[in-house]
Amino acid sequence: MSPTTLSTDPQKPEALRKQLQEQYDTFKARGRSLDLTRGKPCPEQLDLAMGMLSCVNVDHYKTRNGTDCRNYGGLDGIAEAKALMADFLEVAPDEVIIGGNSSLNLMYDTILRAMVKGVGEQAPPWASLSPVTFLCPSPGYDRHFHICQNLGIRMIPIEMGPDGPDMDSIEARVADDESIKGIWCVPRYSNPTGAVYSHETVLRLASMPAKARDFRIFWDNAYAHHHLVEDPRPLANILNACKQAGHPERVYLFGSTSKISFAGAGMAAMAASRKNIAFVKKEMSFQSIGPDKLNQLRHVLFFKDMEGIRRHMQKHAEILKPKFDAVERVLADRLAGKQIATWSRPHGGYFVNFDAPDGCARKIVKSAADAGVKLTPAGATYPYGQDPRDRNIRIAPTFATVAEIEPAMELLAICTRLIALEEAEKRR
Ligand code: PLP
Repeated sequence: MSPTTLSTDPQKPEALRKQLQEQYDTFKARGRSLDLTRGKPCPEQLDLAMGMLSCVNVDHYKTRNGTDCRNYGGLDGIAEAKALMADFLEVAPDEVIIGGNSSLNLMYDTILRAMVKGVGEQAPPWASLSPVTFLCPSPGYDRHFHICQNLGIRMIPIEMGPDGPDMDSIEARVADDESIKGIWCVPRYSNPTGAVYSHETVLRLASMPAKARDFRIFWDNAYAHHHLVEDPRPLANILNACKQAGHPERVYLFGSTSKISFAGAGMAAMAASRKNIAFVKKEMSFQSIGPDKLNQLRHVLFFKDMEGIRRHMQKHAEILKPKFDAVERVLADRLAGKQIATWSRPHGGYFVNFDAPDGCARKIVKSAADAGVKLTPAGATYPYGQDPRDRNIRIAPTFATVAEIEPAMELLAICTRLIALEEAEKRR
């Protein structure tokens, strides 16, 4: 069901408008201040990893092979961390580089490196070509789009569906346009739609012909292990698929423990073919004498292996599920069957994707803010902050409490109905 039409409730429009306005005014008069903008872990989630702060200590600061983590060196990470993040990203340890605390930082560096130095020994710097274009499945992650905008990379939005982005459109563009150098992908629990790329989508991305020989997939698997259900939809292995399709260098993978351990002190990693990794490592050697190995050791000692991470993430799910359930409960109660909005019921990740009637998102976000509920700015989920249909709103329920989420969703429903009604009246 698509909320493209402004059909409204069966009640007489004027009576309904008055009733909704009263509800809105009552909410506003309570003077609440609620924030559902950024997807960050709540304190209870962070508390789960407190043991990490004591497992590296005066007695434990060396790796298994005796490397002293207090000192310089180990540019691509300690062996134990590489093994852990290799399992995390489903690649081999020598296809991994451990970064600092932020995968976004690794993505930024990877693109900046490509702009200045190219993607390999023989490849021209992207910045020597004009324009440089990225495909941006949308709605998508605003910070990906900000990287492109900041570096002067042209962005083309690609429609997202339940199985991933519109592959027909991607294949046609990539085959034809040499300026297309990259595509952003959040393959599992996409930010914000919650989509998981289907097997077919992964295989098509890996195998499609690309006019640009240095075309790259930026595979940001930020929510790879962030399930809310017990039987998560499987995700095909993109690096294997690229190798099998004869494009082993096509993909860079990224991930981190930001939403597993600490969002401000997690452990980030990137992965790629050995050839790509060798190039990145060589370039990185000019940037740093070595990363924070104590933090890497801390992660390895605390989680031990992927089974440890999986067990830990079940505890996260126990904290987060009631919050996502609260969003669903209130939205279903207030908006189901009214044909004015659709929203996602994600199986993992950090967001609920809300689509209002066309032309209403900005007004809804503003009126919610005026009554004390901060939502992510409308348009943020599209390149250049421009949602062509002005309908998409990203809900981030992880940090707030259920007691905060429920009234915030009540208000979102009130604002959506009120503005949909007003817009319908205007167009009559
Ligand atoms: N990628 C996606 C899709 C995200 O949603 C986020 C944070 O919200 C990040 C990356 C940031 O990751 P990191 O903390 O590792 O930089």
